[in-house]
Amino acid sequence: MRKPQGYLVGTSLDGLVSEADTFTCSHCQKIVIVKPMCDPADIGGRCGMCDSLICQNCVGHECIPWEEKMKQLEASYEARRSYGLI
Ligand SMILES: [Zn+2]
Ligand SMILES: [Zn+2]
Repeated sequence: MRKPQGYLVGTSLDGLVSEADTFTCSHCQKIVIVKPMCDPADIGGRCGMCDSLICQNCVGHECIPWEEKMKQLEASYEARRSYGLI
């Protein structure tokens, strides 16, 4: 299941932001607004590990796709629960 990219509903600035002008960072799920004609390096980049668009904050960081992070969280939750800590 892959989420469709580029949805910004109801929060557009004067209707100038269309769905084609955004992408969701694959690492932190931040919605990044892509300004027309801007330098791709200004808005982030593409992660070579998961081959997805990522925001500026995530450029140069370790590749941990959101789904992977959620899985890790779930796994640690399950582990703690199985130890009776929750
Ligand atoms: Zn990000
Ligand atoms: Zn990545």
